[in-house]
Amino acid sequence: MILRDLGEFNLIKRLSRRIKLSACVVKGIGDDAAVLRYKKDRHLLFTTDMLIEGRHFLKSSGGYLIGKKSMSVNVSDIAAMGGIPLAAVISLGVPPSLSLDFVDGLYRGIREIAGKFKIDLVGGDTVRSKKIVINIALTGEVEKASLVLRNGARPGDVIFVTGAIGGSLNKRHLNFTPRVKEAGFLVKSYKIHSMIDVSDGLIADLGHILESSRAGAVIHEKDIPISRDAKNFKTAIVDGEDFELIFTVSNRTADRLIKKWPFRTRLSKIGHICKDCKCLCLISKDNKKQKQKIKGYAHF
Ligand code: ADP
Ligand code: MG
Repeated sequence: MILRDLGEFNLIKRLSRRIKLSACVVKGIGDDAAVLRYKKDRHLLFTTDMLIEGRHFLKSSGGYLIGKKSMSVNVSDIAAMGGIPLAAVISLGVPPSLSLDFVDGLYRGIREIAGKFKIDLVGGDTVRSKKIVINIALTGEVEKASLVLRNGARPGDVIFVTGAIGGSLNKRHLNFTPRVKEAGFLVKSYKIHSMIDVSDGLIADLGHILESSRAGAVIHEKDIPISRDAKNFKTAIVDGEDFELIFTVSNRTADRLIKKWPFRTRLSKIGHICKDCKCLCLISKDNKKQKQKIKGYAHF
């Protein structure tokens, strides 16, 4: 058997089954970041993301934007846990022929995001590679009461998404603002039952919440905010790299939240977690119910 037959998500599942964890681990594989015991009132968060030339970026986009993206994707995962970032290590695979300008730009982008979110850059590794590879690992912290996992969605919960979905791969994926501020407001003011950031696509990432929470959902095409950059609805909901937040709250919380939302970032109620279905259903604009195959971006 080869990896393609198994698929990315089944491979991760298989790897995680063989791992034994110590009592320090609050949450291991299966969320946006790992959660570790840390302080009396806080958990430590720990996440990593790898970007590869040709897959996540083109060299022609320039070091600066690629640096911003490589940091921001990690920050987005910390935000999705309800936390704030702390310190990062940066590993580079680079060809010897790469210009110094590119690497200076890369670090300008990395430093800019680190500065914005008060992240300390504390190490890394540098190796020779045919293609440019950037791997950042980032720690963060979260107050115990603010921690949000993917697995807490409850029947009757309202599903929200921030911003607009789709068309990110045209441009936005290199230059987006991780939703740290919005997530911070949410977890401090409300009981957020589940949360994830959209990296694999709206359908796939809502699917991750549903799978972890053993729940189903109904969402409405008319309520899903589609970005102006998106080609059409069908691709927008599966394309990925939006780095918006999907989260669920109780019905009562939803009403309060809509009234109090203080940001310019859009907030949309797109559906609800259902009581007795285990699938994801999309109600189209002409009121037809379509069961969604939970697919989005997977590397293989
Ligand atoms: P995200 O899109 O939020 O970064 P991923 O889909 O990359 O999340 O990963 C899902 C989960 O699987 C995370 O908990 C991640 O740490 C874990 N994971 C991914 N690849 C591996 C691997 N090779 N070994 C162990 N855990 C992994
Ligand atoms: Mg994520």
